Amino acid sequence: MIIGVPKEIKIHEYRIGMTPASVRELTARGHTVLVETDAGKAIGFTDAHYLAAGAEIIRSAAEIFAAAEMIVKVKEPQEIERSLLRPGQILFTYLHLAPDLAQTQDLLRSGAICIAYETVTDDKGGLPLLAPMSEVAGRMAIHAGATALERSHGGAGVLLSGVPGVAPAKVVILGGGVVGSNAARMAIGMRADVTVLDRSTETLRRLDNEFRGAAKLIYSTTESIEHAVLEADLVIGAVLLPGAAAPKLISAAMVKKMKNGSVIVDVAIDQGGCAETSHATTHSNPTYIVDDVVHYCVANMPGAVARTSTQALNNATLPFIIKLAKMGYADALSSDKHLRNGLNVFRGQLTCAEVGVAHALPT
Ligand code: NAD
Repeated sequence: MIIGVPKEIKIHEYRIGMTPASVRELTARGHTVLVETDAGKAIGFTDAHYLAAGAEIIRSAAEIFAAAEMIVKVKEPQEIERSLLRPGQILFTYLHLAPDLAQTQDLLRSGAICIAYETVTDDKGGLPLLAPMSEVAGRMAIHAGATALERSHGGAGVLLSGVPGVAPAKVVILGGGVVGSNAARMAIGMRADVTVLDRSTETLRRLDNEFRGAAKLIYSTTESIEHAVLEADLVIGAVLLPGAAAPKLISAAMVKKMKNGSVIVDVAIDQGGCAETSHATTHSNPTYIVDDVVHYCVANMPGAVARTSTQALNNATLPFIIKLAKMGYADALSSDKHLRNGLNVFRGQLTCAEVGVAHALPT
């Protein structure tokens, strides 16, 4: 199969659909991989690395879209990219179609076979191509929080670990899923005083098995949240109600009562955030202060560590890319129900119920 990897063109997006190591796996299996000039340069994957992995370097995205049978990307295709898609071409990338009618209509018009990373499933009921980005964001949340706690960033001037003779900072993590458990691992590693709240007792038991007393694990209620948040130096918002807006667990009144110079890192901001005072920010201006509480609410945290994020994403996408390349879309989709769950648009037909509901379109 001919696989095309164009350079990402969304603003400040430095990730790339395939690393040189992934390209090598495909070329070793006899496939052709076309990579756009300088597509990975910003994160240290040079054209020379791709050539060494057996790729062909192509000057323009238009040439790649014209030649490739499958396009592998990271972000949803931008308008210009959508106009280059061809009937029967496979598009494998994050799509997030539910809030994006214009993209949905363009993909339907394209006649392409569009498989969205975010709806591919696994046997455990998880979303394996979303999980790596939650792992990155969860771990990064502790870096971001530690920095915001520094006085020069508006924080109280608190070191997460404390030092001998000075108590560590109190880190409260709302939600113990992928983001929350990864944040907890980092915070425990940095010797903070860690509390995780979740409303799933099964999740709390799993974390108890792993942490063995290194974190306090509390059942989430209005009262337990209020108690923990008011004591916290750093709060990580890591809750998710699948398919819904994040629940507002931290009210504006609660923020008013939080410690001066404390910090909220609201990772759940991509679902609206779990604090009433949260609004989305960007990497160029990541924080703002409300009632002396620093808020960090970057909606695309993994973009800041684009090299690690690209590698982590590729570890999860590679088996599916290999399968699609080897079997073609018809056999790959019919033999793998999890990949089939990723199918959002098939040759002009919407195939994802949630997207259909969001846009009142037939599926
Ligand atoms: P997840 O499903 O693995 O975990 C969510 C957890 O929240 C679950 O354990 C669930 O039981 C818990 N929860 C739900 N309601 C709760 C409540 N009222 N109190 C306590 N816990 C509650 O999800 P995840 O992958 O960890 O993602 C968490 C959020 O982070 C999502 O909104 C996701 O989109 C977001 N995210 C943001 C970024 C970013 O860059 N900002 C990156 C990755 C993920």
